[in-house]
Amino acid sequence: MSPQRSGANRPPAQVLAIGSVALDSVETPHGSVERVIGGSAVFFCAAASLLTGVRLVGVVGDDYPLGELAFLEARGVDLGGLVQLSGESFYWAGRYHDGFRTRETLATRLGVFAAFDPQVPAGWRHSRLVFLGNIDPVLQLRVLEQVRSPRLVAADTMNFWIDGAREAFLNVLARLDVLFVNDEEAKQLAGEADLGRAAGWIRDRGPGMVVVKRGEDGAVLFGPGWALDCPGHPVARVVDPTGAGDAFAGGFLGFLASRGSWKREDMAGAVAHGAATGSYAVEAFSVDRLRNLAGEDVAQRAALVSEARIRAGVGG
Ligand code: AMP
Repeated sequence: MSPQRSGANRPPAQVLAIGSVALDSVETPHGSVERVIGGSAVFFCAAASLLTGVRLVGVVGDDYPLGELAFLEARGVDLGGLVQLSGESFYWAGRYHDGFRTRETLATRLGVFAAFDPQVPAGWRHSRLVFLGNIDPVLQLRVLEQVRSPRLVAADTMNFWIDGAREAFLNVLARLDVLFVNDEEAKQLAGEADLGRAAGWIRDRGPGMVVVKRGEDGAVLFGPGWALDCPGHPVARVVDPTGAGDAFAGGFLGFLASRGSWKREDMAGAVAHGAATGSYAVEAFSVDRLRNLAGEDVAQRAALVSEARIRAGVGG
């Protein structure tokens, strides 16, 4: 859509991503923001682009402050699949209570996403890694149908879609290698109170790996016959947890893309990088903390997470 800018250290574009490109209004115990940039794809890109190139497919309305995405282009996010339509951008409003333990959704307005027919640019159809960010699973499927023989397909979702578009979501699930989901959603999706059993139920329906995000408690990655536990990185002051899950996915997939390998032995590094980018995301509103970081900052924090894992003596 906008002219390509070549960032100084532009990494090769390796991950194709779709997701919400949103305006968010958020209230937390530390303050509130109105109509700031957010959405699953924006948080994902802000994190993944610290480690790899990203190609973004999405839609915004004519109310979107596109200039705010310039920092993404400058570090290797190709916005060639982002279209602008006349109408309102995806809008989400939420409020956190009880020291961030509960999140109340005040508004979800799909705006231009309601009539969006995603088109993957011809030159991107051979992308090897695909991230289907949290959005209508019907749109996730349409993107997947346009990609030829991807090597790794990962997706994220939330209750809104699991409950509202379950059948389409199960079709997506069948085509995944990795699902990112939070623990409550995993249990709800599977109808299982036990997390391990819920992950097993999900894995039986498609993805070889399920990454269960547990907020400040970290994440557990369930694979075929193994599980890998990863602590969260302790943050001095959580300002706004919005987008932590998408930033986690960005660090995780960005790491795998930068290695060009996603074997069992790459996974401890992937969860550590996901924990690092997820923890950065919560230190400020919107993508503000992720704006001025470098890959080196992520690597340093991921190393701390890995040390904590080893000290905790967790397996994997
Ligand atoms: P997270 O905190 O990781 O769940 O991500 C929150 C982000 O997802 C916010 O920036 C919202 O704009 C976006 N979001 C919230 N609800 C939805 C939804 N139903 N579909 C797609 N994106 C959403």
